[in-house]
Amino acid sequence: MKTSPPLWFEPAPWIDGAWRQPGRGSDPFTVRNPATGALLAEVGRADAGAVTAAIEGAARAGRGWRELPAAARGEILKRTAAALRARRDEFARLLTAEQGKPYLQAAGEVDYAASFFQWFGEEARRVHGRIVPHPEAGREFLVEQCPAGVAGLITPWNFPLAQGAKKVAAALAAGCTAVWKPAEATPLVALALAPILAAAGLPAGVLQIVPGKGSVVGPVLAAHPHVRVLSLTGSTATGSSLMVAAAPGIKRLSLELGGNAPFIILPDADLGSVTDQLVQLKMFVSGQVCVTANRIFVPADREAELIERLSARIAGLKVGDGLAEGVDAGPLIHMDACRDVRSRVAEAVAAGAKIVAENRSFESTPGLCVENFSPPTVVAGVTDSMRLAREEIFGPVIPLLSYRTLPEAVERANATPYGLAAYVYGTDLGRLRAVASALEAGIVGVNEWRPLKAEIPFGGVKQSGIGAEGGEEGIREFLETRVISMPKPGVDG
Ligand code: ADP
Repeated sequence: MKTSPPLWFEPAPWIDGAWRQPGRGSDPFTVRNPATGALLAEVGRADAGAVTAAIEGAARAGRGWRELPAAARGEILKRTAAALRARRDEFARLLTAEQGKPYLQAAGEVDYAASFFQWFGEEARRVHGRIVPHPEAGREFLVEQCPAGVAGLITPWNFPLAQGAKKVAAALAAGCTAVWKPAEATPLVALALAPILAAAGLPAGVLQIVPGKGSVVGPVLAAHPHVRVLSLTGSTATGSSLMVAAAPGIKRLSLELGGNAPFIILPDADLGSVTDQLVQLKMFVSGQVCVTANRIFVPADREAELIERLSARIAGLKVGDGLAEGVDAGPLIHMDACRDVRSRVAEAVAAGAKIVAENRSFESTPGLCVENFSPPTVVAGVTDSMRLAREEIFGPVIPLLSYRTLPEAVERANATPYGLAAYVYGTDLGRLRAVASALEAGIVGVNEWRPLKAEIPFGGVKQSGIGAEGGEEGIREFLETRVISMPKPGVDG
């Protein structure tokens, strides 16, 4: 049987095809397993000088990369997809160790990341321009799609591999080279991807990886003239500050930001299947997902039944270390995140809401860093003005908001500055379709809790973002349209 060497990487920036350990006196940052608190690595931080070197190396590598036939670029990406699938278990274990999500969710993320390398590996050869007839005789227009230049990619800690894969694969397929800054809490899977890409044939310098602080790396990427596109997945506040930093250089921006997804349960919904899917959605990465359901709109006369069903499901969940057998929900990323969730729930309770279900089973499990865990919780009696309903929760909390009429539910669902995802559950297809169309969101799941796939564009409306990832659209974020207006060659000279 053919075996491959174990996943290997150095905890340091990856620049021009080599690990760059920062010099003495630099200040490494620690990466810990959020479930147990165990130290995983001390990572050499990319400072402003290292980021500048990475950008300049990427610009040099760009000349060769854009000249490579698109099909050859695509092959490298498809080989990367195959390598990720082959090393699913190792990547999943590393992902669970640094991020905390249960192993099966991590393995699903590896597959999801591979699907973007596969998709954009295929899309690379479908980028083409067109010839447009000129209104004057003897001339023609060539409309070209060109790689924009160096792309700056900034990703968060909730999907450390997949968020990177979406951006890296699209940028490289387009013929851009890239500088990727993973989140400080979860840089290890990003670094582990570097040798995989190199083994797949990616030339040195085409992808640089610069672990470091967002407030240091972001402004350097935003200010450098070689960087032509900035793609960020993060909070709306970070997106806004990146826009400001990018404004003087008129950089293109692709932003996937926060959400406040409504989840509307129609009066005819099957509450058994709704409960099942809602709990899966909210326990996915312990609710630390920008598309998770944030406000559950339930018909007032069905709320009691929903509470009863949810309470039974919440009580049966296993909360613990994602590497342990059968765990449904892992820790949050750090204890500040838990404190934040706790304070939102406490504020809601003080304002009249009620905790109707809670699972604190993790408190009695030995070896866990209990302060990093947040109990799966159902809160009833939540009103639109509570912070729990106005802002993204980022924790395993299910807030129930009751409604009397459907137009009222739709209006309240849309009464938010965010517009990333929305969900609607019921049985009447006509009604489902009408409600889905009325919701102001980049993606609506109808009787489906995880609609995101590499084949479709994903991006928010309103303050949830600009642009899209995935689908045909994802690659366009990294292309610019240029026109050549020229004499039309003729056989008679
Ligand atoms: P989250 O709440 O998911 O951590 P953030 O927006 O804080 O979202 O972080 C997402 C990514 O943006 C991380 O890689 C982070 O380091 C980076 N980041 C944070 N601040 C800035 C900034 N001012 N400019 C650019 N990137 C930043």
